[in-house]
Amino acid sequence: MYIALGIFLFCLGACIGSFLNVVVLRYNTGRSLSGRSGCFSCGHTLGFFDLVPVLSFLFSSGRCRYCNSSISLQYPLVESAVGVLFLVLYLKGFPFLLGIYLAVIFSLLTVILVYDIRHKIIPDPFVYAFIALSALSLGIDFDTVTVSTPTLWHALAGPVLFMPFFILWFVSKGTWLGLGDGKLAWGVGWLLGLSGGTTALLIGVWIGAVLSIALLLGQSWLFRGGKRLTMKSEMPFAPFMILGLVLVLFLDINFYSLLSIFSF
Ligand SMILES: [Zn+2]
Repeated sequence: MYIALGIFLFCLGACIGSFLNVVVLRYNTGRSLSGRSGCFSCGHTLGFFDLVPVLSFLFSSGRCRYCNSSISLQYPLVESAVGVLFLVLYLKGFPFLLGIYLAVIFSLLTVILVYDIRHKIIPDPFVYAFIALSALSLGIDFDTVTVSTPTLWHALAGPVLFMPFFILWFVSKGTWLGLGDGKLAWGVGWLLGLSGGTTALLIGVWIGAVLSIALLLGQSWLFRGGKRLTMKSEMPFAPFMILGLVLVLFLDINFYSLLSIFSF
């Protein structure tokens, strides 16, 4: 029974992941979400067997059945990631309502993450929806399903985490970063509270910085003759912040365990 439910939740997540791919690819293109999908290369309308999450990609070896052009890895990656996410939410044993709340939030964050990687921008409607969903956790205790009064620190967590981004944005007149990352941080603050939100942000900044430096140093053999990265190259930050959020939420990492790494 548990295994069957686990498999069902993975498949459900993969199907939702498939829909999220469509949202990312069609947002701001004028195409509706309901139209049939076609191959980006040959335009052939895709049939049922081309649209089974993850499996279609595996069985076709990542190529279009009609024109043999390669299909973006984004499809199976997002589908399996959301599938695994739903499975983990179940295995973590979150209370039912909290599990659904987090599933909705992470589906939205998946769209933000993939969109930021593709376009280096976080669209306002997505990030405002995230802030609005996070705001729910201010007034509802999802563990016990009761209405709760937020503490002052919890209420301040959003604006406080937004501040550093706003200051950098203001000082640089918007040239160093967009405000999208700041809005995302606001939502993370309300979702995790001040301590958890700060931890998620710090983890994101560290991993992002380490990876940026590694890319700058290692690019001479990584991209031989390809596009060169410079200090000015834009690095999407949303994926790192969301990674921090995932680590804090699922591994119960907190500010104090983070500090204890440095106190030998
Ligand atoms: Zn094709």
